[in-house]
Order: sequence, then C-alpha cells, then structure tokens
Amino acid sequence: MPRRLTRRGRSRYDSAMEKTIFDGIIAGEVPADVVYRDEHVIAFRDINPQAPVHVLVVPLERMESIAEATSGKPETLGRFMQGIATVARELGLEEKGYRVVFNTGRDALQTVQYVHAHILGGRKLGWPPG
Ligand code: AMP
Repeated sequence: MPRRLTRRGRSRYDSAMEKTIFDGIIAGEVPADVVYRDEHVIAFRDINPQAPVHVLVVPLERMESIAEATSGKPETLGRFMQGIATVARELGLEEKGYRVVFNTGRDALQTVQYVHAHILGGRKLGWPPG
C-alpha cells in the first residue's frame, strides 16, 4: 500500500519530525554543557569536539535543517544568526576567527534533524573541509 505523503512530500512515517536529542537538551531532559541561552537560542559544547572550541547553536524554534530557511520566519532566522555571532563573541573567538558550519542532508552527514550551527575555533582550521 503506498505511503501517504504530507503536504511537504514527506511520508508521515518518516522519523524526521520525531523528537531529537536537541529537543531533549532544550527541555532540560538531556544533560549538556550549556554555554549560552536566551529567549531565541541555546548553545552547548559538542560531545565529540573537532576543534579546541566546538559549540552547537540551536534555535529554540524547531527547523530540521537550514534548507527550511527558504520558508522560515525572518525574525527567527535573524535571531538565530545573531545568536551565533553572540556565542562566538562570548567564547572569545572574534579576534582570531572561527568557522560556522551547517551540515545539511545526507551528503553533508547531518546526523541530528534539528537545525544547528557548529561554531569551530581555537586553532587554525584547514580548507577545503573533508
Ligand atoms: P551534524 O552531523 O551536523 O548533525 O552534527 C550533530 C552534532 O551533534 C555532532 O557533532 C555530535 O557530536 C553532536 N551531538 C550529538 N549528541 C549530542 C549531545 N547529547 N550533546 C552535545 N552534542 C551532541
């Protein structure tokens, strides 16, 4: 029997909109090393750091990936961007610089289906990325 698709073409059986580990962190149900929080974003240290500073910034309003920004609210998206810059400043990364990464979809190895910006810094970063 064919699977029914939602308006956005996604099967209602896909797990993408199920709760993620980041929903748990936002709710305070999953422990995390939170470095910043305001009414729009939360930021916490990545459990598998790829640089001396590796922090994830997550908007409290759920999107699955940055691909949804095409239909996102400008206010939400703007607050997200401001949150990223604020966290990087508070982590002391502004002077030497840092990288912001949005892994998006399968080819980019996005593993958590809740949009998050990786802030990476504290060392000279290579380019191109792997
Ligand atoms: P991505 O591959 O872009 O989806 O990145 C997901 C990131 O979340 C990875 O770098 C993981 O190490 C990180 N991560 C997964 N679970 C947790 C957690 N409980 N606390 C902090 N970081 C996490």
